[in-house]
Amino acid sequence: MNKHICVLPGDGIGPEVAVQALHVLDVVGRKFGHTFTRQEAFIGGAAIDATGNPLPAETINACREADAVLLGAVGGPKWDNLPDNRPEAGLLGIRKELGLYANFRPAVLYPELAASCPLRPELTADGLDVFIVRELTGDVYFGQPAGREIRHNQRVAFNNMIYFEDEVRRIAHMAFKVAMGRKKRLCSVDKANVLEVSRLWREVVLETAAEYPEVELSHLYVDNAAMQLVVNPGQFDVIVTGNLFGDILSDEASVITGSIGMLPSASLGEHTALYEPIHGSAPDIAGQDLANPLATILSMAMLLRYSFALQAEAEAVERAVKQVLADGFRTGDIMGPGGKEKVGCTRMGELVAERI
Ligand code: NAD
Repeated sequence: MNKHICVLPGDGIGPEVAVQALHVLDVVGRKFGHTFTRQEAFIGGAAIDATGNPLPAETINACREADAVLLGAVGGPKWDNLPDNRPEAGLLGIRKELGLYANFRPAVLYPELAASCPLRPELTADGLDVFIVRELTGDVYFGQPAGREIRHNQRVAFNNMIYFEDEVRRIAHMAFKVAMGRKKRLCSVDKANVLEVSRLWREVVLETAAEYPEVELSHLYVDNAAMQLVVNPGQFDVIVTGNLFGDILSDEASVITGSIGMLPSASLGEHTALYEPIHGSAPDIAGQDLANPLATILSMAMLLRYSFALQAEAEAVERAVKQVLADGFRTGDIMGPGGKEKVGCTRMGELVAERI
């Protein structure tokens, strides 16, 4: 297979972790007989420094021409005081330009890292491997009308929570397909006891379910879902939800794993997809070979699975990551009981590559 990737290393630890993921990709290419070409482009602070714009047109074009996009991270104190055009605008901009409407956030608690989990051990006795599918382009974040005005002599502000049925249907299809590739259990999260928009959400999810008879569908109100994630996270396989609820629940799920440096993500659209670790640019440790590259390496595994349909290759990467942890290697952020040797970012990348 021949595929072309656009790499946006970004700022802080972004370039360091991206290099390790690309190293792993090269090994996958050699082992499985694929050619992965790549092109780098600027985004975020690096793009502001180079061009004055956090998302230059050349970057958008390079992403559009690629089969998939890998991003490191953006932002940092150097650009924090810019009045507008902050690095983060590059990230929001590229998601919009590429029409990425589905956000995939798996949260896995690796047994070797169980000590990092803030929950009592008995609560995660069943393990934790929850996959959140969040709608990314609709909901109260983008709904119109939205704004601020003066009514009855006081300030009033409003946002519109709105979903078109097509938006719900396409994210529901995505989620059912993800569930089909996992344990075939899907939980749709809404607030249908109160919100009309959630009643439509539930209706459309139920209609879509008819096409996936093998998937066991359940529904939870968002307040209950937030509680269930901390009292019995092992009950979940795939969760699908809207933009606002997904924003909150995906952060809650990731904090339960206790390891921000371990968690990958993907944002998918009709034509392309962008893969990135969920962490930021970690300016406090940038340039010191201290960053954990595993979230970015696992993002690369998601890229292989979801953009290139290379299931065996994706599993090989995920297995190699598990093996490195089982062998006792840890970067500083995940060093704890069971860790035998502390390694830097580069060494961690090599260790994964060696195990593929
Ligand atoms: P952060 O995720 O960068 O860092 C939070 C803490 O986690 C820090 O102590 C950091 O050292 C640690 N950490 C994060 N990733 C790590 C890794 N791979 N290995 C080891 N330790 C890691 O969040 P922050 O400090 O709130 O933000 C820093 C900058 O990143 C800000 O400019 C913010 O806007 C930006 N940011 C970008 C993204 C993104 O690019 N998607 C996401 C969040 C924050």
